[in-house]
Amino acid sequence: MAEVTVFVEQRSGQVKRAALEVVAQGRGLADAWGGSLEAILIGTDLDDAAAKVLPLGPDHVTLLEHPVLSDYSVEGFTQALSGYVARTNSLALLLPATAMGMDLAPRVAARLRVGLASDCISISSGPDRTMEAVRPVFSGKAMATVRFSSARPVMATLRPNVFPPGEPVANPAGKITKKTPELDETKIRARLTGIEKDQSGEIDVKEADIVVSGGRAMMNSENFGIIRDLAAALGGAVGASRAAVDAGFIAHQHQVGQTGKVVAPKLYIACGISGAIQHLAGMSSSKVIVAINKDGEAPIFKIATYGIVGDLFRIVPLLTEKILKLKAE
Ligand SMILES: Cc1cc2nc3c(=O)[nH]c(=O)nc-3n(C[C@H](O)[C@H](O)[C@H](O)COP(=O)(O)OP(=O)(O)OC[C@H]3O[C@@H](n4cnc5c(N)ncnc54)[C@H](O)[C@@H]3O)c2cc1C
Repeated sequence: MAEVTVFVEQRSGQVKRAALEVVAQGRGLADAWGGSLEAILIGTDLDDAAAKVLPLGPDHVTLLEHPVLSDYSVEGFTQALSGYVARTNSLALLLPATAMGMDLAPRVAARLRVGLASDCISISSGPDRTMEAVRPVFSGKAMATVRFSSARPVMATLRPNVFPPGEPVANPAGKITKKTPELDETKIRARLTGIEKDQSGEIDVKEADIVVSGGRAMMNSENFGIIRDLAAALGGAVGASRAAVDAGFIAHQHQVGQTGKVVAPKLYIACGISGAIQHLAGMSSSKVIVAINKDGEAPIFKIATYGIVGDLFRIVPLLTEKILKLKAE
C-alpha cells in the first residue's frame, strides 16, 4: 500500500503540467509521512506518459489500462479510480483541479464516502498522518483552512499553476505496473463520439508564461488586435475580462477570473481592466502584474507590480513597438 496516491491526468498520452504539480505535492506529503507515493494513470497506451511521470519520484506508477477508457468518461474513470483506491487503503488521494479533476474528484469522493477539499492552493502534513489544506473562498476574499475527519483517504484537488512541478531525477527507482481495472460497462452511459479541436492555433491562457488581457475598455473586437499584437510580440496568450467577453469582443475561452480560467503566468498585463474581485480571483497569483489604466484610482493598481496610468490605445502599441525593436537587436 502507498500512503499517498495521485491521479495523473493525461489526454492522448500527453501529461498535463497540472498533473506534474500534483505528483510533486504528493511526493512532499508522502515524505512528510515517511511513506510511499503511487501515481495512477488511466486510459490506454500509457507507457510514454508513465515514462514522463516516473522521474518525478513516485515509488509506483500504476497504469489502469482498459480499451473502454481510451477517452475520458467520468463514469468509467470513477469506477477505475475509486475501485482501485478502495482496495489499496491509501491515506490520501490528490487530483488536479482541472476540468477533468473537478469532474472526477467529487464522484470518487462520494464512492469512497470521504470528504473532498477542492481547488486547494496549499496542503501540508498534519499530526497523525493527516493533512491540512487551504482553499480560497468568496472569490479569493478569504482563505479557508480545511481539516479532515478520520475517514480515509483524505482527498483534495489542487489548483493548477499554483504549485511548482517537481524536478526530475536522473535514475528514478520507482516501478511501473500495468493493471486491468474491473469495470461494469453497463454503468458507463456517456461515451465520447468525437473531439473538435480548436483550429485557431492560439496559445491557451492556462498554459502560457505571459498573458496580455484586455477589458471593457477595448470597445470592440477589432481593437483587440493591439492586445493580440502585444501578446504575439511577447510569445504570450490573449486573455480578457468577463465584461469584454460578455460584450462579444472575444470568445469565452479567453476569459480570466472566477467564472473563467485561473492563470498564474510569470507576467500578466491587464489593459483597460478595472480589477474587480472576480477578475483578480483568476490572475492574482501571477508573478509580475502590469496594469495599464487611464484611471489612477482603479483597484487593479493595488495588486499591480508595475502600473501605467494612461490611454491603453497609445501605450499598448508603443510597448509592442519597443519589444519588437528589442527583439530585432
Ligand atoms: C458571479 C460573477 C462572476 C464573475 N466572473 C468574472 C470573471 O470570471 N472574470 C471577470 O473579469 N469578471 C467577472 N465578473 C465581472 C466583474 O465583476 C467585472 O464586472 C468585470 O471584471 C469588469 O470588467 P472590466 O474590468 O473589463 O470592465 P470595467 O470594470 O468597466 O473596467 C474598465 C476599465 O478600463 C479603464 N479604461 C477605460 N478606457 C481606457 C483606456 N482608453 N485606456 C486605459 N484604461 C481605460 C477604466 O478606467 C476601467 O478601470 C463576474 C461577476 C459576477 C457577479
